[in-house]
Amino acid sequence: MSHFNIVCRKCGKVLENAYCAFCEHCVNALLVTEYREKEFSSRGPGEGAWKFNWLPVHSPGFKQPGPAVYRSEGFARQAGIPELYICFCGYWPERGALLQTCTFKEFEAAVVIQNAMENGMQGLVAASAGNTARAFAHLSSTSGFPAIIVVPSMCLPEMWYLEEKGIFGSAPTIAVSDGDYSDSINVAKRIALVAGMPFEGGVKNIAKRDGLGIVMLEAVNTIGTLPRHYFQAVGSGAGAIAAWEMSERFLKDGRYGSSLPVLHLAQNLPFAPMTKAYMRKSREIDPADLDFAFISETTTRVLSNRYPAYGVLGGVFDALQATGGTMYGITNDEVYAAMDIFEETEGIDLVPAAGVATAALLKAAKKGTVGSDGPVLLNITGGGERRLKRDMAVGRINPLLISKNASEKEIEKFLRHAVR
Ligand SMILES: *Cc1c(COP(=O)(O)O)cnc(C)c1O
Repeated sequence: MSHFNIVCRKCGKVLENAYCAFCEHCVNALLVTEYREKEFSSRGPGEGAWKFNWLPVHSPGFKQPGPAVYRSEGFARQAGIPELYICFCGYWPERGALLQTCTFKEFEAAVVIQNAMENGMQGLVAASAGNTARAFAHLSSTSGFPAIIVVPSMCLPEMWYLEEKGIFGSAPTIAVSDGDYSDSINVAKRIALVAGMPFEGGVKNIAKRDGLGIVMLEAVNTIGTLPRHYFQAVGSGAGAIAAWEMSERFLKDGRYGSSLPVLHLAQNLPFAPMTKAYMRKSREIDPADLDFAFISETTTRVLSNRYPAYGVLGGVFDALQATGGTMYGITNDEVYAAMDIFEETEGIDLVPAAGVATAALLKAAKKGTVGSDGPVLLNITGGGERRLKRDMAVGRINPLLISKNASEKEIEKFLRHAVR
């Protein structure tokens, strides 16, 4: 018997064999995992990230390090927050953080891949840019599970890999030479059909959200209670929804506090569609806020998701409502300033997206809305890239190029060469 069920958030129906699905009649509601064990435990099926019982995996076949959660001194003093915990998702061996792709996307990729293996999948196709693509390529190489990564060629400059992993053979990266992000999703879906592999399902895959929820699992494991406030930079919204869903499980357990952490979610101005919608207390994103021109003005392309899980039932809007949450819009100057302050006080570099969350925390602390009523958790979603490059050689990928107009026949021929 499985140690979890998959349940529709809206109608409560329990779904069998629901891999990456929506409930058939509540198509606009997220499914959530319901674990049979109501009590949290860190004696789960493995070590590192696998040590928790609330993950949709049975017997992990490869290693995955977890995040490092610690109580801050330097940055906490600077921000004026007496009890500040940092969840560092990145590479910082001095603190025990060993994520070799340097972001929390690794948790998502590890749990999605292990869960897909256990569901009898033969591989998967991920259409993504930047950190998600790098995490899936890395975990494909670590686990031996085939993955095909499809990226728009304009995102290639961000696609660094570890040289020692020899990643290129086991996870071919395909760049769509003549298209943008939506063209590459389209090509990826066609490749998935031809290859007979599932298309990585994004936010509706429970394994993705529960994987990102490892942040809250490790935080509560370290702090001993739920934090009062949670800070994170958001793009697709999956990480924030995950933090909320894990917190609900801790509330039901009953031993870790009696209220949900307040979500403080931040985006990089001027591309901040969720911030702008929530300021209006609206469940709908205004299409005018999705302008590509806004994206080119931000420093954080990883946050520039144009189809976030915001209005969907069980999405970011509901998470904010349920927790009394807030959204922040952060300018580029505020991002750079926060990154500098963090590095000076904690001694490690951040990726710009983590600077967005850090800037939001500085704003809230200045206003006095957090700090006096319990522990604050800052999710550093990515960091230590510079630190990693001191220890390891990284290289640029050498992608296979495909046209957005490739025919089925051409894709078939292409895959015979690409996938060994
Ligand atoms: C993807 C990403 C985020 C945003 O996470 P979502 O789950 O997409 O909202 C934040 N920081 C970093 C470093 C990321 O790679």
